[in-house]
Amino acid sequence: MERVWIGLGSNMSNPKKQADKAMWSLSNLPATKLIAFSSYYRSRPLGHKNQPDFLNAIIILDTNLSPKSLLSHIQYIEKKQGRVRLHNSLLWQSRTLDLDILLFGQHNIHTSELIIPHYDIYNREFIIYPLIELDNHLIFPNGKIITDIAKTVPENGLDFWKK
Ligand code: AMP
Repeated sequence: MERVWIGLGSNMSNPKKQADKAMWSLSNLPATKLIAFSSYYRSRPLGHKNQPDFLNAIIILDTNLSPKSLLSHIQYIEKKQGRVRLHNSLLWQSRTLDLDILLFGQHNIHTSELIIPHYDIYNREFIIYPLIELDNHLIFPNGKIITDIAKTVPENGLDFWKK
């Protein structure tokens, strides 16, 4: 059993509804137990500024799935909720649902399909602050402590999702 941290983002098609639905799907994954989830946050979009704000949240799961199998499951959930993957498109476009594996136990994984810890985990306010809400003693596989990382990450207008 490994403890896994999933990042969720949505800025289309009623983000709150998308997040609630994804939570339900994640809590029903095989060989997996939902442990906790953060508040829903509102963050400013990265990349193109002329798109709606994002809803972000983090979910903690305990799972017996392998990282690769978990990735397939979360991609299936994204697909079911209508996320269209556009090739040749710009990064950070609007999205119905984006699920990322942020941490998988204390593992470091570097394959063609998976980078864990997530490549931008130390820079994004909408990852760091929800992580702190869930566990302010969290230590990353590289030995860094979450509260030390937070000192270098501006909040950038991060707020709670109020609707
Ligand atoms: P994105 O469009 O940002 O959701 O990226 C999707 C791609 O990122 C997929 O093809 C995954 O194989 C790859 N990927 C690499 N590392 C991760 C991770 N930690 N969690 C989810 N997807 C990942």
